[in-house]
Amino acid sequence: MKYNFAQRMSKTPRSFVREILKVTENPEIISFGGGLPNPQSFPVKAISNAVNQLLAENGSDALQYSTTEGYEPLREYIAQRYFSQGLNVTADEILITNGSQQCLDLVGKVFVDKDDKILLEKPTYLAAIQAFSLYEPEFKSVPLQKDGVDLDALEDILSNENIKLFYTVTSFQNPTGITYSKRKREKLAKLLKKYETVLIEDNPYGELRFMGDFIPPVKSCLNEGILFGSFSKIVSPGMRLGWIVAPAEVMDKLIIAKQASDLHSNYFTQRVVYQYLKTNPIDEHIQKIRNLYKNQRNLMIRMMEKYFPPEVEYTQPEGGMFLWVTLPPGTSSMELFEMAIEENVAFVPGQAFYADGSGENTLRLNFTNSDDKSIEEGIQRLGLAIEKLLSEK
Ligand code: PMP
Repeated sequence: MKYNFAQRMSKTPRSFVREILKVTENPEIISFGGGLPNPQSFPVKAISNAVNQLLAENGSDALQYSTTEGYEPLREYIAQRYFSQGLNVTADEILITNGSQQCLDLVGKVFVDKDDKILLEKPTYLAAIQAFSLYEPEFKSVPLQKDGVDLDALEDILSNENIKLFYTVTSFQNPTGITYSKRKREKLAKLLKKYETVLIEDNPYGELRFMGDFIPPVKSCLNEGILFGSFSKIVSPGMRLGWIVAPAEVMDKLIIAKQASDLHSNYFTQRVVYQYLKTNPIDEHIQKIRNLYKNQRNLMIRMMEKYFPPEVEYTQPEGGMFLWVTLPPGTSSMELFEMAIEENVAFVPGQAFYADGSGENTLRLNFTNSDDKSIEEGIQRLGLAIEKLLSEK
């Protein structure tokens, strides 16, 4: 049988990261490649209690089908939390999804026709490229600076191209760790309004700030924007719960797309997470995660200062899970990857995060899923591999 697949499949490769990281299954390899939260941060006991209590008190209800929008008390909880952070949204503007990854797919379904233009940050979240690719858009990219997108370049593109959506990760971006300053957020909102481009703000790491001051999402100054959130980094990624915040007109369409995809997100899990949130102090829990990640981030930076050649640059994120390394121009992080594997250490070469295939001399490091010893040892090994790469140049 010769299968005749839809054309869109030929334009969408498997996740490069998942492919490349197969080599890291070897237990000798220290991997800074994956993007996993630290499992120490998972509230296993509290979730176990929440499950037991839920089943004992509302078991048959929690095991039933439910509404597409999601469990109302959970949506109220999310709206309240936003309110306390200066963002005015109602439960009606929130749709519970299967992780924030599903938000990307739903936005693609609802907005993107073939050859529509989507503007991405350069670099951007790899799986956003993949999710949007299935809708066959044309990607444009705009460079990131230390404090967010390059606004001049952005205006240039918005004024010359008919851009439908601008996809951005505004806090502790995956892959760079970069966070938009307050000033840039405000200017970005103004520009998107001026050029009638839809804001797609993905914010799974916003709560993981371990230094500096809280800055509200861009959506707080752009009512018509669309914002994603997730429980993956503050409770558990395996539970696959996220949400999308959108104005009523967009919500209508999202609900249709979501119904067609999966009727509704896992209702039992929604009830468990709500039970957990109702009976546990989430702020204390998040603070523990922040402290843990701050120490891991600081240790990784100390080790990089010690073991990396001085011409290597890296970001110093104020939160999140990733660091971004830039090697001298003309070097290749794919070549470095081969050398690093020989030293038994892995990372993700940066090119994967560029829709236009550039970024050859960049790489992403995750600092949240390695213990201290592995960070010390792994960065030392990576430093050796970098020295080897530079000496062969
Ligand atoms: N967006 C970004 C920027 C991410 O880094 C991730 C997780 N790697 C996701 C979305 C998807 O997360 P989830 O579906 O677990 O909420």
